[in-house]
Amino acid sequence: MKTIGVIGGMSWESSAEYYRLLNRHAKARLGGHHNARSLMLTVDFARVEADQRAGDWDALGEQMADAARQLERGGAQLVMLATNTMHRVYESIERAIHVPFLHIADPTGSALRAAGVERVGLLGTRYTMEQTFYTGRLRERYGLDTLVPDEADRADVHRIIYDELCHGDVKRESREVYQGVIESLRDRGAQAVILGCTEITLLIKPEHSVLPVFDTTALHAQAAVEWAIEAE
Ligand code: GLU
Repeated sequence: MKTIGVIGGMSWESSAEYYRLLNRHAKARLGGHHNARSLMLTVDFARVEADQRAGDWDALGEQMADAARQLERGGAQLVMLATNTMHRVYESIERAIHVPFLHIADPTGSALRAAGVERVGLLGTRYTMEQTFYTGRLRERYGLDTLVPDEADRADVHRIIYDELCHGDVKRESREVYQGVIESLRDRGAQAVILGCTEITLLIKPEHSVLPVFDTTALHAQAAVEWAIEAE
C-alpha cells in the first residue's frame, strides 16, 4: 500500500477523525490488522485562522506548500489536505510537490453524480460557501448546481464551526440550528447536502438530516485509501 500524507490540524478535531477513518477503511478493505500507511503533519491552526481572517491567502498558500513538501520528504506518495477551506490554495500545494494531490471536492462530486443529484446544498465556512473555489469546481467538473444558505444562516454555520466544533464542542442546540438550515435548503430545492467542512461530521450524522448527507471527511478519507491500495 502507498503512503498517504495528510496536512492536518485545521482543526486537529477533524484530523483525529481522518486518522480514524483512514485506518478503519483500510481495515474494512484489507481485513486483519491492516492499517492505512500514513503520515500526518499538523500545522498550527492559530496562525492559519488568523491569516484567513486577514485574507492573507498568499501566506496560507506558502504554509500549505511547506507542509506538503515536508510530507513528500518524509515519504508521502499522495498528499491530501484535511480541510475544505484551505483548498482555496490547493494550486500552491500542487506546484510544491511531485506526487499526486487528492482534492477534497472530487470524491464528493463523484459520489453526488453517482447518486443522480443535480442540485445540492453546501454547508461550510464562509470562505467555502461564499468564494468560488469550491462551488466552481463542483459546477465545472461535476455539473452540480450548488445552493448555499442565506446570509443569517451562513453566519451561524460559520460561527458554530470556529467557536465550537474546532474546539471539539458539540452542542445539541447547534445541531438544531444546522437542522433548520438543512430544512431551508431542502425547501429551496436541494436534493442532498454536502458537509463541506471537515468538522461538521462531528455534529451532523445522516439521521440528523432531512436530506441525504455527503460527508467530505469520510468521502475524502475513503478515496485516499482506495488510491493507496489501487496504486500499489
Ligand atoms: N476544517 C474546516 C473546513 O473543512 C474549517 C477550518 C479551516 O479553516 O480549515 O473547511
